[in-house]
Amino acid sequence: MLQVGAHAVVVDPGDAGPVFDALAQRPDLTLAAILVTHHHPDHTGGVAALREATGAQVWGPARENIPEPFTPLAHGAQVDVLGLGFQVIDVPGHTAGHIAYFLPAQGGQAPLLFCGDTLFSGGCGRLFEGSPQQMLHSLDALAALPGDTRVCCAHEYTLSNLRFAQAVEPVNADLARYTAQCEALRAQGQPTLPAELATERRINPFLRSREATVTAAVQQHARLPADAGEVAVFAALRQWKNDFR
Ligand SMILES: [Zn+2]
Repeated sequence: MLQVGAHAVVVDPGDAGPVFDALAQRPDLTLAAILVTHHHPDHTGGVAALREATGAQVWGPARENIPEPFTPLAHGAQVDVLGLGFQVIDVPGHTAGHIAYFLPAQGGQAPLLFCGDTLFSGGCGRLFEGSPQQMLHSLDALAALPGDTRVCCAHEYTLSNLRFAQAVEPVNADLARYTAQCEALRAQGQPTLPAELATERRINPFLRSREATVTAAVQQHARLPADAGEVAVFAALRQWKNDFR
C-alpha cells in the first residue's frame, strides 16, 4: 500500500482482508486506487470487494480479464493517481498481457517498480502464457531501469530463488553476500523486499543469462551446443529452475 496524504493506492490485492485490516487501523485513510499487473486470482481476488466498499478506481492490463469495470492500460500509458505518474511497461511472459508499473524518482524518493510475477528477487516468474523470448525481453526492459529502483515483487520467494542462483553461480561473491543478508532478515521475520535493481543485476541469474559464467553453467547443465543463442540459454535456465529442488 502506497500512501499520499489521506489516500492510499494498492497493487495486486489478491485478498481484500489485509487491505481492510490496514484501512481499519487508519480510519483517516481512503483507498483511492487499485493497480493490477495481471489476471491471476492471487493478484485480483480482492479487487471487487475493495472497489465495492471504497469506490476505488481500478486500472489493469488491457489484454487480460480483470474484474470489470477497470481502465485498460497498454505499454507507454501513464496512470496519474494522487499526483503520482506511474508509467506502464508491457512485460509479457508469465502471462500474455502482464504489465508493470514504474514510478520515477521524485522528492528525494527512489524510483519504485511494481512488477507482479515478472521479476522476483533472485528469480523470475514461470512462463505460463508467454515464450522465453518474450520473458527475456521483458526482463531486459526492467533491468534497464535506474539502479536505485526499489523492486516491489509480488511474492517473497527470495531464499528459495537464491538457492537456485547459487547452484548456477557458485563463485558469485555478490550473490553469497546477498544470500547471507537475506537469510539474516528472514531469520528475524523481516521481508527481503523491496529489492534494489542494481543488486538484482549482480545476483539474479535471470538478469545475467548473457554473463559468461551463467551461460557456461546453463550450457553444461542442459548440454546445449556451444553456439546456442541467448533465447535458448534463457529457456534452458528457466527449465533448470522449474526442475530444481
Ligand atoms: Zn501470477
